[in-house]
Amino acid sequence: MTHTVTNWAGNITYAAKELHRPHSLDALRALVADSARVRVLGSGHSFNGIAEPGPGGVLLSLSGLPAEIDVDTTARTVRVGGGVRYAELARVVHAHGLALPNMASLPHISVAGSVATGTHGSGVANGSLAAPVREVELVTADGSTVRIGRADPRFGGAVTSLGALGVVTALTLDLEPSFEVEQHVFTELPSERLEFETVARSAYSVSLFTDWAAPGFRQVWLKRRTDQPPGPLPRATPATEKMHPVPGMPAVHCTEQFGVPGPWHERLPHFRAEFTPSSGAELQSEYLLPRPYATDALRALDAVRAAVAPVLQICEVRTVAADEQWLSPAYGRETVALHFTWTDDTAAVLPVVRRVEAALEGLEARPHWGKVFTVPAEELRERYPRLGEFRELAGALDPAGKFTNAFVRDFVHPIS
Ligand SMILES: Cc1cc2nc3c(=O)[nH]c(=O)nc-3n(C[C@H](O)[C@H](O)[C@H](O)COP(=O)(O)OP(=O)(O)OC[C@H]3O[C@@H](n4cnc5c(N)ncnc54)[C@H](O)[C@@H]3O)c2cc1C
Repeated sequence: MTHTVTNWAGNITYAAKELHRPHSLDALRALVADSARVRVLGSGHSFNGIAEPGPGGVLLSLSGLPAEIDVDTTARTVRVGGGVRYAELARVVHAHGLALPNMASLPHISVAGSVATGTHGSGVANGSLAAPVREVELVTADGSTVRIGRADPRFGGAVTSLGALGVVTALTLDLEPSFEVEQHVFTELPSERLEFETVARSAYSVSLFTDWAAPGFRQVWLKRRTDQPPGPLPRATPATEKMHPVPGMPAVHCTEQFGVPGPWHERLPHFRAEFTPSSGAELQSEYLLPRPYATDALRALDAVRAAVAPVLQICEVRTVAADEQWLSPAYGRETVALHFTWTDDTAAVLPVVRRVEAALEGLEARPHWGKVFTVPAEELRERYPRLGEFRELAGALDPAGKFTNAFVRDFVHPIS
């Protein structure tokens, strides 16, 4: 490549022969058909090599294509182009009086890249961001277009696909009427006062934050819909000033708090679109487990907090409703998600990532596809009961493994 391309965090420099930014769908089709190996780069917010094609491959960005966002107010759907980010999408959807059911902690990420990795927000009744997707449009290995909708038996593999099926050029998502959300922040929830299920169910979206320097949680964020009855408050102290979840970071980066009602897209993410999300100098890991294991998992993390705390900026605990995407970390089970924002020191962080994985052993943890983990492919394979069907689908759409890379090969295409 003539210039290097790194991910958002700067810990990955993508190995590739060429970076291409086609300006039309026809140019994209021709490029895919004529290339031996291709991976698409979304907004580059993943912390590992999932988007990397490898030294001989093409890294394809869709940022040169028109940013299509077509809302159908009658059908309550939106068709969104493969390079569009949530911030742009949410503004247009809201302007039509409609809403997405949920968002991640930040709106800066691309829709296609997010649903490809099983990205999620929080809420016991909220599925991952893939849940509202009703149709995927793909340019597959030979350059042809394939549409896979909910009624198609291939749909379970089509949305959370790790970029291994082809180039997602558009997605159609279900919408709902616009709603307002109040965000309430509390501080200091001691572990003996934490009844996990009660707190997790106490609002539309709930996040618990701890630095693991001491037991218990430093902050609890409740995002309440104003059209739903309020749930119980946590047995914690209401915040008296605006908070950022990462200690020392300016709260101005965060969405409005103190229960001021506002539109869904300005409250569901923690971070505002016009500011750096999170800390900006960091690595991240996350493990998704069956929700009934939440208390055991928190106890297991508490037991290793002396190792975790020195390289941790913040840990966030969220919930995700079960979904039907075969490779989704929330596939088939109500989920608790344990997230870690680490310091940006890979050498110091990796041994602690292994400690966390060892501590969670036996709890069926599935790592977030877009974050740092060390779980070997053979163990991951055991944690995805529908992997065989995904492999068949990938083999049918991409027989030569054009969209395979080092990250997915051992998991998706062990033979190629
Ligand atoms: C500050 C920060 C906060 C985060 N918060 C959350 C959070 O709240 N919840 C959560 O679950 N995750 C979170 N993440 C992780 C992030 O959501 C995921 O890594 C997500 O995949 C990022 O989307 P992206 O477009 O940047 O994907 P990329 O990293 O660019 O790509 C991810 C994968 O998608 C594929 N892909 C992208 N676009 C296409 C396309 N058009 N066609 C085919 N394949 C495609 C890529 O090839 C790659 O395999 C966070 C990350 C950061 C940096």
